[in-house]
Amino acid sequence: MEKDQKTIVVAVDGYSSTGKSTIAKMIASRLRITYIDTGAMYRAVTLAALRSGVIDGGKVDLEALRECLKNIHIGFRYNTATQVYETYLNGEYVEGEIRSMEVSNQVSMVAAVDFVREFLVAQQRELGKRENVIMDGRDIGSVVFPDAEVKFFMTASPEVRAERRYKELREKGENVSYEEVEANVRTRDYIDTHREVSPLKQTEDAIVVDNSCMSIEEELSFMISKIQEVGM
Ligand code: C5P
Repeated sequence: MEKDQKTIVVAVDGYSSTGKSTIAKMIASRLRITYIDTGAMYRAVTLAALRSGVIDGGKVDLEALRECLKNIHIGFRYNTATQVYETYLNGEYVEGEIRSMEVSNQVSMVAAVDFVREFLVAQQRELGKRENVIMDGRDIGSVVFPDAEVKFFMTASPEVRAERRYKELREKGENVSYEEVEANVRTRDYIDTHREVSPLKQTEDAIVVDNSCMSIEEELSFMISKIQEVGM
């Protein structure tokens, strides 16, 4: 993928619940660049598939999913109050719904479908061609923008990640158990690293950030210093 040389792409890949979006949002606001949450795009497709009955009993009807994609438009709108881009599915605000356990439990299965990835990767490349971006996901540095100026690979122990996610969901009022959340984190890791299309993997040129024992400030200043090394 040839990228417009005028723009800078910072790729943030890594395991589920490593705080990729939190740190990417902070970096975006500090450096005044656009943050794009590609996981939200896979989640929005999953929500649309669930709503239209394309996923049933843990199985995806591939032909119906292909049809469903024709009617999916995913947009991001900037919320000036919270200073973040929020996800819209066909014009409807879906930020809350796409983060539910129901969507989390099905998203990796939908994200493993080759034509879903083609559909979303094309949109992600367009977004990165227009302006300087920090994009978080699983395959940004490996597939979407292999020539990204800076690539980070985020990791932390499964227990630390499950604990963070559990707290987040409980604060939002979701009635989940820690065990359920840890099982979801481990299952998503497995599917994300073992799928045939664009599996999650660390590229050789990625900077590894293990934040199991790092404070958010330490993480932020380390990552910003690495981005500044490339002249941003
Ligand atoms: O980042 P988040 O955890 O919200 O992503 C949800 C799911 O979407 C991941 O577990 C993964 O299966 C999928 N995903 C992906 N490629 C991306 C971003 C997310 O496969 N670039």
